[in-house]
Amino acid sequence: MKTKTKPVKLSPKRAVATITAHPVVPLKDRRINFGNKWDYAPAPEDSKNYRIAPRHELFIDGKFSAPAAPKYFDTINPATEEKLSEIAQGGEADVDRAVKAARRAYEKVWSKMPGRERGKYLYRIARIVQEKARELAVLESMDGGKPIKETRDVDVPIVAAHFFYHGGWADKLQYAFPGRTPRPLGVVGQIIPWNFPLLMAAWKIAPAIACGNTVVIKPSKTTSLTLLRLAEILREAELPDGVVNVITGIGETGNHIVKHPDINKIAFTGSTEIGKQLAQLTVGTGKKLTLELGGKAANILFEDAPIDQAIEGVIAGIYFNMGHVCCAGSRLLVQESIYAKVVKKLRDRIQTLRIGNPLDKNTDIGAINNRPQLEKIREMVQCGVTEGAELNQSTCPLPAKGYWYPPTFLTGVTASHRVAQEEIFGPVLSVMTFRTPEEAFERANNTPYGLSAGVWTDKGSKIFKMVNKLRAGVVWANTFNKFDPTSPFGGYKESGFGREGGVQGLGAYCRLD
Ligand code: NAD
Ligand code: MN
Repeated sequence: MKTKTKPVKLSPKRAVATITAHPVVPLKDRRINFGNKWDYAPAPEDSKNYRIAPRHELFIDGKFSAPAAPKYFDTINPATEEKLSEIAQGGEADVDRAVKAARRAYEKVWSKMPGRERGKYLYRIARIVQEKARELAVLESMDGGKPIKETRDVDVPIVAAHFFYHGGWADKLQYAFPGRTPRPLGVVGQIIPWNFPLLMAAWKIAPAIACGNTVVIKPSKTTSLTLLRLAEILREAELPDGVVNVITGIGETGNHIVKHPDINKIAFTGSTEIGKQLAQLTVGTGKKLTLELGGKAANILFEDAPIDQAIEGVIAGIYFNMGHVCCAGSRLLVQESIYAKVVKKLRDRIQTLRIGNPLDKNTDIGAINNRPQLEKIREMVQCGVTEGAELNQSTCPLPAKGYWYPPTFLTGVTASHRVAQEEIFGPVLSVMTFRTPEEAFERANNTPYGLSAGVWTDKGSKIFKMVNKLRAGVVWANTFNKFDPTSPFGGYKESGFGREGGVQGLGAYCRLD
């Protein structure tokens, strides 16, 4: 049974009231709050037997230890706003201690170890991640707000896959770069965001240590728990002390890592704004740098595409991980002849998405990761409406506590609107139209970003034509948001530079003589 939402035409004055007027209900008994008439019974993953330590320290030189200055911040569950634990805030002295440990480990042990031995550790880490998959998925959902369906079926399996894949490369690096002699770079500083906390850690750590580097890594302030759990796994795998060090903290902590004189490479994933600052900080220092920044990907839907499959792909492209995805398909370009049909199908489909308890196995849309992000999404949607776009939103009730935003799309968006140009990083799709393939790729390329794109068509020839014209690091055809450790990932223009994953990703962690 489907309920239809009508597009709301709003005058700028009325807009605020209408946008925030969502039915609010308490998130009781871990139940999902159903937006439609029929539904499944609640099916929450149990977290009762899993105890989270009240305080978490820094992981330096194979041991957990307190920061030099005793500063701690809270990490909360964004679905309930309950405090989960206290996390140590690393300062300059702690970063220095971690870099020294990493340097010692690099010189004494890790860079000297034959690749086939390094590889064994990566395999061991991968297997322990698989053993603890359920626990990691639950923890990731609690700390970050992601639905368990995603942490369980996407994040954690790909984390294991990254360690397996790079474990395989550790003793074969000379084959990855024929005729060259790949050598490790030294100590690598890595800074990661909150949208895929454990997965981004695996993307960064696995290739770095496979190539013989040692690591100092900093998670985002709101999502430190799974990386700290991974640190325990590294200990269980008997990874030599100091090979991977975890310094939890805030932006300033990251800044100390970037500025440390004994770091040879910085790998950063996060906002374009901070990425640009880091580029300035590292220029002329001899530090290597890779940046993975924002995106504003276009999903291009041709009239000859299988529409229902394409709608599912568009939905997955934007609402996966609440749109907290740098490569999210946040712009939909629809061929004019099928526009009305597509908008109707989208309206019906968002109404059936289940929003609520991230630990429930039926939840499609979890909590927005943090309050500033929720504010930013609200502000951007408001801006779209003020600039003349029409708001289409699921009428599902939202839990009373926590940070929530209903699945949304905007129609009547023009290329100059902010919602067509800027990253929203939330469950908000901007819909536009095109007539010819030429117009499609011109519109798709008309942003400062170039991370990813999607093409939906029945014709293989059209896919190849589009792929050659799209200025995007990844182009998906008749699918979206699929990740694999063997595929390089990374962008053009303001989406950053360098590649992660695949042979290209390995190259970013080696000196090639
Ligand atoms: P951010 O860029 O501020 O933070 C990313 C990481 O960098 C975090 O670990 C943070 O602590 C660290 N950091 C912040 N300032 C730093 C500095 N001066 N030096 C070194 N490290 C620093 O991103 P955010 O505040 O978490 O989110 C802001 C916006 O960034 C979001 O609204 C979203 O648009 C975008 N974002 C993009 C991605 C992505 O994957 N490309 C991921 C998260 C956020
Ligand atoms: Mn948290």
